[in-house]
Amino acid sequence: MLIDLHTHSTSSDGTDSPTELVNRAISRKIDVLALTDHDTTRGWDEARHSLLSHPSQTSMQLVQGAEISCQDAEGISIHMLGYMFDTEFQPLLEVLERTRENRVSRMERIIARLNEAGIEISLEDVHAQRKGDATLGRPHLADALVARGHVASRDEAFAALLHNKSKFYINHYSPSPTEVIRLIKSAGGVAVIAHPLASQRGRTIKIELMEQLVEAGLDGIEIYHRDHSDDEKVQLLQIAKENDLIVTGSSDYHGTGKQNQLAEFTTHPQQWGALLSRVRPDNQKTRLIQR
Ligand code: AMP
Ligand code: ZN
Ligand code: FE
Ligand code: FE
Repeated sequence: MLIDLHTHSTSSDGTDSPTELVNRAISRKIDVLALTDHDTTRGWDEARHSLLSHPSQTSMQLVQGAEISCQDAEGISIHMLGYMFDTEFQPLLEVLERTRENRVSRMERIIARLNEAGIEISLEDVHAQRKGDATLGRPHLADALVARGHVASRDEAFAALLHNKSKFYINHYSPSPTEVIRLIKSAGGVAVIAHPLASQRGRTIKIELMEQLVEAGLDGIEIYHRDHSDDEKVQLLQIAKENDLIVTGSSDYHGTGKQNQLAEFTTHPQQWGALLSRVRPDNQKTRLIQR
């Protein structure tokens, strides 16, 4: 069983459209695929339609999800994977909308800093790199810098200019992780903290905060991910055991925007079953798509 619970499409900063992603996952014989774009559910319908109208008799299951940006009291960035939550639940939608809006003014501020340093780039250049109203992120800025000839690739743009410790880096508004967990759970979904110790990205979550997240209703923890070292995996497995958390593994696929390959890490079927069993029954029917 190939279960990949973390992927991105052009609805945020991936390079495959939801249709291309679903088709690719079916060709790769993935059994369960979650679409988890940053701070949006806008790819859900297209992905669902692509699966339901796929020409072959596929048994792949599509999980509707999102990777929600959060920030702790110290300003440390935390990503929360929410699965199979109800999109009629307004308080959650409002938080996502606020984050998406703030990402635009944050982009303007990053661009101003780049301009001050003599790097010519505009908001229009960045908008030209995203599809429709996709969640705007640094990868779009990276693509614009490539298009303008400032750097050769997304990776180089991040390494040279856009990484979290860069002088050009500015954060965007994000809710607290405990608030997001409560919202996801109130909307009938399940919450899994994404790559909690991906230390090369910057400062990571304090272990003590994990306890608060568990209290707020955290269901699981993404451990098998390319951004975790073996030591970090061991440390996280211990935390999962102590707190009775479900353990997941996933690719964090972004198409050609990152090296991550579909299903390069996967979730054990038992862990997936445990996660699914915690989803509100009506959401299990409507947010897990299969033919
Ligand atoms: P943002 O959400 O705007 O803060 O941008 C963060 C996104 O940039 C994350 O989704 C990462 O997947 C992506 N990212 C971070 N580092 C890199 C990199 N070196 N190459 C490509 N994408 C990256
Ligand atoms: Zn991303
Ligand atoms: Fe992430
Ligand atoms: Fe991601």
